[in-house]
Amino acid sequence: MKRLFGTFGVRRLANEVLNPEFASKLAAAYGSIIQGTVAVGGDTRTTTSMIKHAVIAGLVSSGCDVVDLGVLPTPAVQYAVRNYYDGGVIITASHNPPQYNGIKFVDEDGIGIAEDMELQVEELYFENKPKRANWDEIGEITYNNSIIEEYIEEAMKRVNVKKIREAKLKIVLDCGSGAACFTAPFLFQKLGCEILTLNCQPDGFFPGRDPEPIEPNLQDLINTVKATGADLGLAHDGDADRTICIDENGSFVLGDKTFALIEKQMLKENDGGLIVTTVATSTAIYDVAKENNGEVIATAVGDLLVARKLKDENGLFGGEENGGLIFPDFVYGRDAALSASKIIETIAIEGKPLSQLVAELPVYFSEKMKIKCPDDKKQQVMDNIAEEIKNNSSNYKLDTTDGVKIFTDEGWVIIRPSGTEPIFRCFSETDNQETATKLAKWGISLVEKYLK
Ligand code: MG
Repeated sequence: MKRLFGTFGVRRLANEVLNPEFASKLAAAYGSIIQGTVAVGGDTRTTTSMIKHAVIAGLVSSGCDVVDLGVLPTPAVQYAVRNYYDGGVIITASHNPPQYNGIKFVDEDGIGIAEDMELQVEELYFENKPKRANWDEIGEITYNNSIIEEYIEEAMKRVNVKKIREAKLKIVLDCGSGAACFTAPFLFQKLGCEILTLNCQPDGFFPGRDPEPIEPNLQDLINTVKATGADLGLAHDGDADRTICIDENGSFVLGDKTFALIEKQMLKENDGGLIVTTVATSTAIYDVAKENNGEVIATAVGDLLVARKLKDENGLFGGEENGGLIFPDFVYGRDAALSASKIIETIAIEGKPLSQLVAELPVYFSEKMKIKCPDDKKQQVMDNIAEEIKNNSSNYKLDTTDGVKIFTDEGWVIIRPSGTEPIFRCFSETDNQETATKLAKWGISLVEKYLK
């Protein structure tokens, strides 16, 4: 059967594949399984309202009641579903360009639906079998405009508001005209920060910058932090589940640094706890855990897997090396509002500038490379590499949670097949750049060897 779902939902060019007919039928397929009350919300894209109304039509047609939450961050919808509803649908293409949109489905805990449920939805869709309710069993549509306020209040409950207010921090905030416009400026105002806003008007044309908060797209933010002498710059992606930080010198802070910094803060506050991450994450996460009474579990790559593990194991905090951070007592998914609040809290409590807090973290060097490999050869190549490493276990340690991760005396390298492209990604980490490059090249050479 054809697959529709990617890593989290369906994402396509809006009004081509992802047109109202498609959205409505797919939502009816999801609604056929949920058969309860479903919350619906979305981002600021020009096509979001159109897709959302099609989704709502599909849901009520299957007999589900619908609560429309309006325009709000993805994690705010996940928060609402976990606390009040049986399921949720989020209309967003996250950080993708303006012409894209997407549909994310979550379960009753607000976690992106698991693969077996995706398969069920796809089967109902392709076999034209979504449930169609009788005229007297059509769902009702209501509205809830209070989630945004509640989400902000709940994020604030999880940080030391008094300390943050006393620090009187000056922050430049770049919402990229995305869903964070409805939450972030109000949150930081309530936290007593002085805020300067960039791109904080919702706009589906994203006139100020691309929704993806990568360094080349954040030059205005970086320059404004430098020009105004701010303590911190914060940027969110289109659906406000990721936070990127710029330090007081205008330097871009990588996601894995933010992850380690908040991990340290969370472990200190809670006197230890369980951290969940993926096998591709920096050893720094393990070092910080060791120093602060923490324990780390690693899953395969994917924020949904991290979220589910956090729930199952009752974990304290989790995240990925790209800076998607999960606070499981708040939202079972990446959350931007609490990530930003925790960074601000850490600066306030430690009384140190962000650049210094980052400099105090363990330092590792990494290298990323990729190599082409036809999809049908990926498994064979991985099996062969794993076999070779296993036969050489006096020199290497092997972890096959996701792809092939090899630990050597010098560091580690992971070789993972891409889920969407005919390539392997190779990622290494060690204590100096030269060895990191050497390890990554060795990883690539192993793929080449078994591709022949
Ligand atoms: Mg996102």
